[in-house]
Amino acid sequence: MTLTPDLRSPQPADTPISSDLLPSVLEELHTQHQSLRSGKIADYIPELAKANPDWFSICVTTVDGQQFAVGDAEQRFTIQSISKVFVYGLALEDHGRDRVLAKVGVEPTGDAFNAIVLDEQSKRPYNPMVNAGAIATTSLIKGHGATDRLNRMLAMFERYVGHEPYLDMPTFMSERTTGHRNRAMAHLMLNFGMIDEKIDEALDLYFQQCSLLVDCRDLSVMAATLANRGVNPLTNVQAVSACYVRDILSVMYTCGMYNFAGEWAYKVGLPAKSGVSGGIIVVVPDRMGIAVFSPLLDARGNSWRGVKVCEELSQRFGLHLFECAPPDSRCNHSD
Ligand code: GLU
Repeated sequence: MTLTPDLRSPQPADTPISSDLLPSVLEELHTQHQSLRSGKIADYIPELAKANPDWFSICVTTVDGQQFAVGDAEQRFTIQSISKVFVYGLALEDHGRDRVLAKVGVEPTGDAFNAIVLDEQSKRPYNPMVNAGAIATTSLIKGHGATDRLNRMLAMFERYVGHEPYLDMPTFMSERTTGHRNRAMAHLMLNFGMIDEKIDEALDLYFQQCSLLVDCRDLSVMAATLANRGVNPLTNVQAVSACYVRDILSVMYTCGMYNFAGEWAYKVGLPAKSGVSGGIIVVVPDRMGIAVFSPLLDARGNSWRGVKVCEELSQRFGLHLFECAPPDSRCNHSD
């Protein structure tokens, strides 16, 4: 007898997330966490410091195009490090897995996201989710000069969000003026031949990607696109080739949540990425994209409310990728 399972099919959801249940759970989680004021707003540039600590939104987009949103879903903010995920996908499309892997590793690091450190042996940055790795992947983006490269990157973001993308110029200028650590990393990588000599062009492109304006709804669509094998579920546009989605999700799973990535993988068990402006995207493969936005950050730089909400959503709906216990015999984190 030959067994031919469709390995790409999602596991049957043992805790179905019905469109009736989800809005009330999102409302409940929003109300529960809105009054909590733990954490601190990023203030390394004035544009981020202006964020309102009360801003808070949770959005879900399913792979069949349904959307659920609570809170400040249309409040715009800069995407910051969440952009690294999507630019990594573009670099993979431009060069293929082996060439990208030769320049950027896929190893998690316990160091801070902006550490000036390369792998001792290979001289590669550890992974594409830390700044050094993201600058290296950005330097791989093809194009005839700075404008063409920027346009290709914006076209990529447009495929994910489904509308014309805008950059926040004050944020870009501030990042560019104050980004000395990022410049230092770029020079170190040039020294080891990990990026080419067009350093200023690559850095500008990196600062521009961090300055993309999004809202929480956009982020949920971007996450849902990755959950939907690279196809935007609202527009049906292929945003990234399906063959690279597994690479993107792998580094999100192991490296996406700064130096909390291990604990996140253990507790939430889903590929995710966060940014210093307070966004988190979470991909539930073949089911949905989740986004949370709240600018109060914990000590590791992750949205404080965002982490709590995602832990609860994963627990309540049994979303952890390795969950195999039936709903009535699951262990809580506190058990
Ligand atoms: N623009 C920030 C930097 O390069 C990104 C920080 C982040 O969101 O992790 O330092």
